[in-house]
Amino acid sequence: MSEAAAAGSVLYTEPAEGIARIVLDRPKQGNAQDTRMTYELNDALMRAALDDAIRVIILGGAGRHFSVGHDLKDHGHDSEVRAHPRISVYGDIDTATVAGYYAWEREVYLDSCRRWRAIPKPVIAEVRGACMGGGLMLAWISDIIIAADDAVFADPVINIGANGVEFFAHAYEMGARKAKEHLFTADSWTAAQAHEWGMVNHVVTLEALEGFTLDLAKRIALKPGFALKMAKESVNASIDSQGQTDAIDKAFLFHQLCHAHNRVEFGGVLDPRGLPQTVLKAGGLSTLVAGTKDWTGE
Ligand code: ZN
Repeated sequence: MSEAAAAGSVLYTEPAEGIARIVLDRPKQGNAQDTRMTYELNDALMRAALDDAIRVIILGGAGRHFSVGHDLKDHGHDSEVRAHPRISVYGDIDTATVAGYYAWEREVYLDSCRRWRAIPKPVIAEVRGACMGGGLMLAWISDIIIAADDAVFADPVINIGANGVEFFAHAYEMGARKAKEHLFTADSWTAAQAHEWGMVNHVVTLEALEGFTLDLAKRIALKPGFALKMAKESVNASIDSQGQTDAIDKAFLFHQLCHAHNRVEFGGVLDPRGLPQTVLKAGGLSTLVAGTKDWTGE
């Protein structure tokens, strides 16, 4: 597992005693998350979760960006998901159908985010550059977010015909009004804004990001391990008691309704009018994503 992860799209190192550093490693693609990366990330997080010597997990991205989001070119090219053993309770994955696509999004998005959020060890996200769409989901399942001052956040999913990303924690992370504004407009927000709203813990210079995050992880790793787990689970229970679990479940169903609507309206799970022309003209999108009609305007 570790060798596969090291050779693939996720790196796993132990930069200090008791600390695992897991890094998304597709820098040329802005760490866009394809299915392979999701499974390798799951392997890496489970490795850190189950290694009793690991006390704190850092989650970062190689290159300039944390993650630009889900890799749309991967959607529907699902040999990876078919080849890999299931990591959620959902089988029956067939992205050609509404039911199968729902199962797929449970597998690689919602259920995976839930599993990662529940890892009973502190997880610190180390965010630089773009943290967009599916990148937000990885930051939000972390317990602490440290942002470089160049970090920029966005959930532009409204542009492609859905309510927002699949792990829909916006109102809890940003506050309801900011969540609505940024969902409606697809406008990005800065590290400074995220800090002001309480979405990130600290903003530091890009140069200081890695050292600051590691120092924090080292301080936390010295605390009693079981008490750390209980502290994390206690805060998560507090958030869950405020309704976050149910709210995310409901938003996920609305999200699936959006995908189903787009299939009827446009032939693919996304509204192709919101896909950048550069992406459409470059090709490589499956008919599952964009349908069969030519939306390049040519
Ligand atoms: Zn989706």
